[in-house]
Amino acid sequence: MSDPHRIVVVGGGAGGLELATRAGDRFGGRGRAAVTLVDKNETHLWKPLLHEVAAGSMDIHAHQLDYLAQARWHHFNFCCGALEGIDRGRREITVAPTIDERGAEVIPRRRLPYDTLVIAIGSVANTFGVPGVAEHAYALESAAEADRFHRRLINACIQANYRPGSAPASLRVVIVGGGATGVELAAELHNTTRVLAAYGLHNIDSERFLQITLVDAGPRILPMLPERIARSVTEALEDLGVRVVTSEQAVEITASEIKTRSGKAFPADLAVWAAGIKGADVLASLDGLETNRINQLMVLPTLQTTRDPDIFALGDCSAFPRAGSGPAVPPAAQAAHQEASHLLRSIALRLDGRPLGPFRYRDFGSLVSLGEYSTIGSLMGFLSGKSYRVEGWFARFMYLSLYKMHLYALHGPIGVILDTLARFLKRGTEPAVKLH
Ligand SMILES: Cc1cc2nc3c(=O)[nH]c(=O)nc-3n(C[C@H](O)[C@H](O)[C@H](O)COP(=O)(O)OP(=O)(O)OC[C@H]3O[C@@H](n4cnc5c(N)ncnc54)[C@H](O)[C@@H]3O)c2cc1C
Repeated sequence: MSDPHRIVVVGGGAGGLELATRAGDRFGGRGRAAVTLVDKNETHLWKPLLHEVAAGSMDIHAHQLDYLAQARWHHFNFCCGALEGIDRGRREITVAPTIDERGAEVIPRRRLPYDTLVIAIGSVANTFGVPGVAEHAYALESAAEADRFHRRLINACIQANYRPGSAPASLRVVIVGGGATGVELAAELHNTTRVLAAYGLHNIDSERFLQITLVDAGPRILPMLPERIARSVTEALEDLGVRVVTSEQAVEITASEIKTRSGKAFPADLAVWAAGIKGADVLASLDGLETNRINQLMVLPTLQTTRDPDIFALGDCSAFPRAGSGPAVPPAAQAAHQEASHLLRSIALRLDGRPLGPFRYRDFGSLVSLGEYSTIGSLMGFLSGKSYRVEGWFARFMYLSLYKMHLYALHGPIGVILDTLARFLKRGTEPAVKLH
C-alpha cells in the first residue's frame, strides 16, 4: 500500500479550519490522505466575532473551539505552532517552537512534510507606518487582543464608577478606520456601557460616559457599501452619540491622542486601529513565493500560488487575480468560506490526478451589524445582478446566517441545532455583557 497523500493546512481560521475539518471527514477518515492543521493558537474563534468579544457582548470562552478536540472528531492531526518557513525543494514547512507564559519552551521547532500545502494564515493590522499604533492602540486582530481590550474597558468603567468626589466620568474611545470593524465596534461599545450601568455601575451616566469618535481618512465610512447605505449607517451612529469624522488621516498615535494630517488632535483614553489589513511578514519570505505589496500571496484562478502548484493559499493572506468585470475577492469571511469549499473539491481532483478548475467568487453583498440597534446593508439579487438595501430582522437573520454557515461546516446540521438551542437556553443564566 502506498503512503497516504499528506495535506497540510496552515491557519485554522474562517477558511482553514473549515477546509481541515471537511478534508479530514472526506479523506482522513478513509485513509485516502493524512490531513494536518497547523495553527499558532490552541483554540479557534471566528474572527468576525472579535468586536463583540472586545465590547463584552460575547464571552470568548463560550465560543472558542479546541483544535485538538475538533481534530479528533474529524480525523485530522493538529500541530500547534506558528509557520516559520518553507523548504519547497524538500516539500517541508518549519513550525516555530511554542513558548509558555514563563518563556519556557513547550514544543521544539519541527519540520512537517507535505504533498499539498494550503496557507490560510489570515491577516494582521496594516499600520501604514503610522508611529505609535503598536504602542498605544488596540488592533482587533486576535481573540487575545480583543479580550485585552475588553478587560481594559471593564476596568475603566469600574474605576469611573468608584471615582472619588463628584468629577464627571467619561471614557474617550477613538476608533481609526470606518470600515465594518470600526463601525460595528462603535455600536457594540455603546450598547455595552448601557448594559454595564444596569449591572450596578450606577455612578456612570450611560448616555454620557462613553464618548466614541470614529475617524476615517476617506470622504465617507463603509467604502464597500453603496453611498446611501453608508449615509444611513452614519445617521444611525450619530443618533447613538458616536461622532463620525471623515477625510481625516491619522498620522500619529500617542498615549493620549490621535493626531491627523490636517493638524487636528482627538483625545483618547482608548485607541483602536481598524484602518486596514495586510499579510503577516512571514509570507514575504516563503522560499520565493510571490507576494504583492501588502504581503499577500499571489495566486492563480485555481488558488495555486503563482510559483508552486503544490502550494495553495486562501482567505485574507492571498491575492486573487481580478478577471475582467468580475467582483474583486475581498478579505472577508464569506470569501474564505467559498474558497475553502472550492479547495475541498480541488483536493479531490488532485488525488484523482485530474485538472483543477478556477475559483469563482459569488458576492452575496455586505451587511453591517449595529449590535442591538440594527443591521443594515446590501444583498445581491442574483437574477437582476443588482444590489438591494436590506435592514431590520431580515438583515439580522442574513448577518447571523454567515456564522451559522461556519458552524455548519465545522459541526454539521445536528451540531448547529444543538449549539443554537444550548445558547438560547443559557441566555437566562448569563449576564448580557461579560463583566470580568
Ligand atoms: C471585528 C471584525 C469583524 C468582521 N466582520 C466580518 C463580517 O461581518 N463579514 C465578513 O465576511 N468578514 C468579516 N471580517 C473579516 C473576516 O474575519 C476575515 O476576512 C476572515 O476571518 C479571513 O479568514 P481567513 O481564514 O483568511 O483568516 P482568519 O480567520 O483570520 O484565520 C487565520 C488563522 O491563522 C492563524 N495564524 C496566523 N498566523 C499564523 C502562523 N504564522 N502560523 C500558523 N497559524 C497562523 C490564526 O491563529 C488564525 O486561526 C471581520 C473581521 C474583523 C476583525
